[in-house]
Amino acid sequence: MPARTDRTTDPVLKAQLLLARRGQAFFSRALAELRNHQLDVPSLVPGWTRRHVVAHVGLNARALTRLTEWAATGVETPMYASPEQRDEEIEFAATLPARALRHLSAHAAVHLDVEWRDLPEEAWDATVRTAQGRLVPARETVWMRTREVWVHAVDLDHGASFRQFPPELVDRLLADVVGAWRRRQDAEHLPALRLVPVDRPADAARATAGDEPLVLVGRAADLAHWATGRGATGVRTADGDPPPAPPRWL
Ligand code: ZN
Repeated sequence: MPARTDRTTDPVLKAQLLLARRGQAFFSRALAELRNHQLDVPSLVPGWTRRHVVAHVGLNARALTRLTEWAATGVETPMYASPEQRDEEIEFAATLPARALRHLSAHAAVHLDVEWRDLPEEAWDATVRTAQGRLVPARETVWMRTREVWVHAVDLDHGASFRQFPPELVDRLLADVVGAWRRRQDAEHLPALRLVPVDRPADAARATAGDEPLVLVGRAADLAHWATGRGATGVRTADGDPPPAPPRWL
């Protein structure tokens, strides 16, 4: 029988689900504040209108629903058939009438949430594969969705800001980005960087490998904004210079 509340009792996972749901509400509110004609203008994602962002976030929920169903049933269902198929689907959905686009966004989010709610405790540790080919436990879908909804709400470029994010989200984003850089550092010859949030304890600084890193200073939210490639407001080097463009995140 379908549950009305999450079947998992894991307190860590429940807190992560709450952060994802708050992010969905943050995104949905930002979308609701946009009139239909305002969807046609560029977003903060290069080459994408707000329509593309809404389409992508809705389709991302569907893709993560497929991973959650995979965990529940053991039947392999990838996020996307291929990167080309993913991109084509976004391009197509971005052309939908505004009402249909909003429906896609809302319905896909609810569907994902229902799949999460009904996922049995043990299935959260079932292995699934991300679009990048990483093997992860199903519980990782919660973080994958969390970063999408919060960051893309900002990409709608209608007033939402990293400074409105909960501190634990900002900290996890910083850890996520710097961790991604570290994993790719040798292969892509990424620079040694050290991010120092001025509004956190000293041990919250995060760095890639290497001696004499370039030190970047700012509020944690501004560092996360810069590190995810969204702009350099509020971030300076230790010498007070503007920061360079960050390496790509994902
Ligand atoms: Zn995205």
